[in-house]
Amino acid sequence: MFRETPVEKVAVRGIPFFVKRDDLLSDDFSGNKGRKFYYFLKREFPMIKKVVSFGSLQSNAMYSLAVLSRLKNWKFMYYARINQHLLKFPVGNLKNALEYGMELNDISELNFNISKKNYFSECKIKNDTLIIPEGGRCKEAQEGIFLLAKEIENFLKKERVEKVFLPSGTGTTALYLQKFLYNIAEVITVPCVGGKEYLVSQFKSLGESAKFFPKIILPPKRYRFGKLYKELFLLWEELKKECNIEFDLIYDTVGFSALFENKLLKNILYIHQGGLKGNISMIERYKARIQK
Ligand SMILES: *Cc1c(COP(=O)(O)O)cnc(C)c1O
Repeated sequence: MFRETPVEKVAVRGIPFFVKRDDLLSDDFSGNKGRKFYYFLKREFPMIKKVVSFGSLQSNAMYSLAVLSRLKNWKFMYYARINQHLLKFPVGNLKNALEYGMELNDISELNFNISKKNYFSECKIKNDTLIIPEGGRCKEAQEGIFLLAKEIENFLKKERVEKVFLPSGTGTTALYLQKFLYNIAEVITVPCVGGKEYLVSQFKSLGESAKFFPKIILPPKRYRFGKLYKELFLLWEELKKECNIEFDLIYDTVGFSALFENKLLKNILYIHQGGLKGNISMIERYKARIQK
């Protein structure tokens, strides 16, 4: 169902490093979310008729859940803060998710308080409904991430590489990678959504021992999630030119800026987790800003 993803040796600013091309995992799933939803993809769930989740209108998880629901013939109901302009001219993840039949609802219509969190705190099945927390943060993600860890382990055995890096949203992928690569490699990550404390609280919420928590590094300044920063766009263009790889504009740009800031890029194994459908809307926003 998923192909084993290749590793490439590249360099930027004269610094060599490796890239695990997990963005090439599948044509239909953004790499990271393909790993996370593998558990659900792989099994039959005869009782499930629909999936409910919530988050942003450009989320990679939203798009991947739309793909999963189409494959499984489930109805997909997604709750978000509705942006009328985006809805009129949908692009990227939103456009694709709507094409896959996603039913979009205004989050204010939810008849319970999501700020209570417990409803969306873990993946669960209630009657005929599968409930998925924002960003796919759940224990079930381990199954797919374990397979990624095995591929990484095979690579590390061949090369003298001891450090693995990936940027975090919920931190689920980084945490489980460190768990499965314990004693094999150090996993390093950067928080892209909140700060360091937020990321640690996300690690804790998954209930793993603190010895599995990845090392956290920070970028030179606090970047707000999904906001536009000229220096990040320039960095993205530089990476594209020098490595000949398109990285993700939201997570990877923050990731590389933290790696440069902490001088940790050399010889690291960088996990490219996909998310390129999300770039389409980001590039539009950057272009609109540059024209102004
Ligand atoms: C979801 C996502 C992440 C964040 O993954 P977490 O497991 O939530 O930390 C990083 N990069 C891309 C491209 C993603 O889609």
